[in-house]
Amino acid sequence: MIELDNVTKRYHEGQPNELVAVRNVSLTLPLGQVTVLQGASGSGKTTLLTLIGCVARPTEGRIRFNGDMLSALPEHHMAEMRRRRFGFVFQRFNLINGLSALDNVMLPAYPMGLPHRVLLERAQTVMERLSIGHRAGTRVELLSGGEMQRVAIARALVNAPPVLIADEPTASLDSHLTGQFLDIVARLKADGTTLIIASHDPRVFDSPVVDRVVHMADGQVLGDATC
Ligand code: ADP
Ligand code: MG
Repeated sequence: MIELDNVTKRYHEGQPNELVAVRNVSLTLPLGQVTVLQGASGSGKTTLLTLIGCVARPTEGRIRFNGDMLSALPEHHMAEMRRRRFGFVFQRFNLINGLSALDNVMLPAYPMGLPHRVLLERAQTVMERLSIGHRAGTRVELLSGGEMQRVAIARALVNAPPVLIADEPTASLDSHLTGQFLDIVARLKADGTTLIIASHDPRVFDSPVVDRVVHMADGQVLGDATC
């Protein structure tokens, strides 16, 4: 499980413009579930995802992953933890134009130091699983929105992380593509992946695949509903 114990994140600490983005959050996220962080823009969802995903460190408090203290790790261990345990899907997908879909999916796998052949196989397998294998050779800027999203998810999954973090993944998708995204979520959950999704989209947090909605406002967790 992932445990947050009195986690606070301040930006510009000690400066006149200091801002508390996440305030005293204590939360336990069991593995294998789908959790949605729900809240208005500015409520601290993205910041909390970066803390959970080892992208940034909390200013105060502790984060543990199956008992390992993430928040106290030296930088290189934190990067390693981030690569092995977390996959990230961003709102605007953040794909690299000019590269093929396959090359985009392979990018996060390079630092794992595996032979190219193994990387290629992994990337192709995960793309097939997401029904995007036929677009492997296409430059990403030529793909449709739904295809881009699948490539972004494939890239997040290429290192087979136990936890997938998605930040407002449906913000630019129509209902059909949002439905497809939720189908992928359901399949990943069935395979044992833990999903942590920030969203203020009711199509997401009202979905039956969601186990838990954590409500955030002003950097705090207001309440926690098990669906
Ligand atoms: P949400 O994802 O719910 O919109 P964020 O975590 O992005 O919330 O933002 C929470 C607060 O922290 C907001 O007031 C935002 O302006 C501020 N903030 C976010 N990122 C930074 C940053 N890198 N530097 C300074 N302030 C930030
Ligand atoms: Mg955000």
